[in-house]
Amino acid sequence: MSYKITNAISSSRVPAWGNKKKYIAVHYLGVVGQAHDLASDGCGAHFYIYWDGTIYQRCSLDAVPWAVGTAGYYTQKHPEANNYNTISIEMCCKCDGNAALASDPKWYFTKETQEACVWLVRHLMGQLGIAADHVLRHYDIVNKVCPAPYVHNNHYKTSWTWDEFKKKIAGSGDILPASTKPWYRVRKTWKNASSQIGAFKTMKKAKQCADQHAGYHVYNDAGKKVYTSSKIPYKVEPKSSNVPIRTGPAKTYSRVQMCPAGTYAIIEEKNGFGRLKNGSGWVYLKKVTRI
Ligand SMILES: [Zn+2]
Repeated sequence: MSYKITNAISSSRVPAWGNKKKYIAVHYLGVVGQAHDLASDGCGAHFYIYWDGTIYQRCSLDAVPWAVGTAGYYTQKHPEANNYNTISIEMCCKCDGNAALASDPKWYFTKETQEACVWLVRHLMGQLGIAADHVLRHYDIVNKVCPAPYVHNNHYKTSWTWDEFKKKIAGSGDILPASTKPWYRVRKTWKNASSQIGAFKTMKKAKQCADQHAGYHVYNDAGKKVYTSSKIPYKVEPKSSNVPIRTGPAKTYSRVQMCPAGTYAIIEEKNGFGRLKNGSGWVYLKKVTRI
């Protein structure tokens, strides 16, 4: 089937401009239905693909719709991709279960929507010089379950898995890599791609990330483990005088005191917190530097 992009470009409701176009993010509409407009608050995407594979372009590639941000609610997972450097595609979807829940396993895409999306992604990769490893799920950027069929990866009805989708967009000879530099990915295991908590251009930053998260390792582009965080215990220093010591490993635990300057040993990690060897409590690991 040959595809075309139906021009539905409008500047209305575009909340910001200046998209750097380094990444492509794939979404599901999140409701059972078909639509191609931005919400009044600027939420939306550049492209929308209907159930029959019709592709609408809703706004210019220079536009910055609110599509992949944290909205003050989600946690950023990707080290670089954000609303200002990402082109977004909404895939219209269907659901045989409870469409109020992203976690419902019965969300699915039609074959036509998925095939059109592969064509569109490849078209954009060639046009913008974006490499296949810069094609992401919304879920790879923040911790939102989007697109649900490619997070569940359960093959419900006609849905492919994300790996299957990625295979279909890879290997196009006319695609220029966005960068020849390697990525260092931080995951629990290479196979468990959804455990990835960051991808970095430098080994140093990847190591720092792995060091902050027990059980994570750094992998190169070939999937080879190139760094394993050294074992507990390890030593840290507070980054500022404003680092509370808490009675437990969460921000909901009460503060014992502010952590005085000095060197401390961490003997256990939980929930992003580290337990101090001196017995005084737990500190948030993002607020201390490993030494
Ligand atoms: Zn999304």
